Amino acid sequence: VKNRWLFGVGAALGAVAVGATVAKSAKRAALQERLARLRESPVQGRNIVVVGGGFGGIHTVARLLELLPPESGWRITLVDQRNFFLFTPLLYHAATGLVDPSHILFPTRALSTAPHFFFREATVTGVDFERKAVLLDDGELPYDYLVMALGSTTNFFNQDQALRHSLTLKSSGEAVVLRNRIIDAFERADIATNAEERKRCLTFAVVGGGATGVELVGAIRGLVHGTLARQYPHIGSHEARVMLFENSERLLGGLPEDLAVHAENRLRELGVELRLKCAAANVTETELTTRTGEVIPTRTVVWAAGVRPVPLTEKLDVPRGRTGRIVVDSFMEIEGRPGCYALGDMAACPDVATGKPLPPNAAVAVRQGKALAEIILARLENREPTPFHFDFPGELVSLGRHEAVARIGGVKLTGFPAWVMWRSYYLTQLMGFKNQIGVALDWSFAYFYQRDTVRLDLPPAVADGGAVVSEVPREPSPTPPIPSALPPSATPASS
Ligand SMILES: Cc1cc2nc3c(=O)[nH]c(=O)nc-3n(C[C@H](O)[C@H](O)[C@H](O)COP(=O)(O)OP(=O)(O)OC[C@H]3O[C@@H](n4cnc5c(N)ncnc54)[C@H](O)[C@@H]3O)c2cc1C
Repeated sequence: VKNRWLFGVGAALGAVAVGATVAKSAKRAALQERLARLRESPVQGRNIVVVGGGFGGIHTVARLLELLPPESGWRITLVDQRNFFLFTPLLYHAATGLVDPSHILFPTRALSTAPHFFFREATVTGVDFERKAVLLDDGELPYDYLVMALGSTTNFFNQDQALRHSLTLKSSGEAVVLRNRIIDAFERADIATNAEERKRCLTFAVVGGGATGVELVGAIRGLVHGTLARQYPHIGSHEARVMLFENSERLLGGLPEDLAVHAENRLRELGVELRLKCAAANVTETELTTRTGEVIPTRTVVWAAGVRPVPLTEKLDVPRGRTGRIVVDSFMEIEGRPGCYALGDMAACPDVATGKPLPPNAAVAVRQGKALAEIILARLENREPTPFHFDFPGELVSLGRHEAVARIGGVKLTGFPAWVMWRSYYLTQLMGFKNQIGVALDWSFAYFYQRDTVRLDLPPAVADGGAVVSEVPREPSPTPPIPSALPPSATPASS
């Protein structure tokens, strides 16, 4: 029996080894074929430039690096103003002491050490489509193929006061600022002698009842009622108000009504004050006024009511849709700009099933990035590419500890199972093993003990949204600074 077992195990291992060798040779043969096709194709240049290293950009680059090895002769350059990728779905957790902010950041240069991959930390200031050059704050970059994935910014719908006095949550710095603000509000309230001021400090308002606003208000509630109320024994838990303002009749417009109603009920039970059909009309340093005229004294208003493409989009000579997003076709190519593509939040890419623009979210951007790399490869090989088709994978919205709502395919989940699914899914999606371990440990610590409530010491310039003082002064570089670091053998014959 023992020999039969040993024989079985040996045969299985042998089969695996043979399978792996066959797969490896098939991969090598496919690569040789691809390289041969690339050599035959009329190569006009050698630079693929991807601007924006968020969800869309980083996945485009990762897939391009798989499809185009160094021997292909193509350089792949990623440009971003920050040298890290930010995992936005866990920003609320960074803003409310559940995870360390550095655990949701992934260093962009760690993406690849391939000799034909270049990262450039710079701010894109424009694109000269005639000269085929990306304009940067410290020079410019020539391109043959351009991919634009610069994302979006908060939409204040022309409410200047709200822009001046609300907090937003789009970056890791803003997450730290929000966390500091909430903790500081408790510190101020603890010593306030004026009852009105104490009330103002202890009222936290979120504007916008989409997925971002709902997840954020749930996370703030957890920090305020779950941790801070215990750490400040002179402040009663009932004194702290956490409020959510939504313009329409219901929360979570993208989810089925029964899930939205469940979310509303659970948030109310958890102590969140919901104001539906209640738009914010004005925000000042000390209060929020609704369109119905109600005045809420508060020092903390977080604006999560919508997004619009980054302001640079308006400066580009490209067609834009109703919401300001760049109009692209189902290959993500910009209308009238051959070889230039846009994806993610800044692009209005039609859903092939409905013809309507796909929503601005990470799930769309990631799938677009991977598909766009295939489209570019097809173009390089003179093949007809496949249009981008988005299969809706489902939606997960966290409401707080043990509470979430989810729709996966036709299945709807609520409560603990949805919460476990939310955490498991996002843990697996995080980039970098170190980050996954870090977040898992942070969550465990917060679950069994308590959240981190240290007010992080920021230099005032950062807190005010000004320039970061630790920056090394930059020399403007007039010449295109792509290093010619490719090995000589990697240069294609025709270039
Ligand atoms: C708090 C929060 C939570 C979210 N949660 C979810 C979620 O749970 N699920 C989901 O699907 N989506 C979620 N989203 C939305 C998701 O983050 C975006 O849809 C997604 O990031 C869009 O990808 P993108 O590639 O278009 O842009 P981004 O990921 O925003 O990347 C844009 C990149 O461009 C860079 N950039 C911008 N301007 C310049 C410039 N001028 N020069 C150089 N670089 C520049 C930025 O630094 C950034 O790295 C969330 C968003 C936020 C803010």
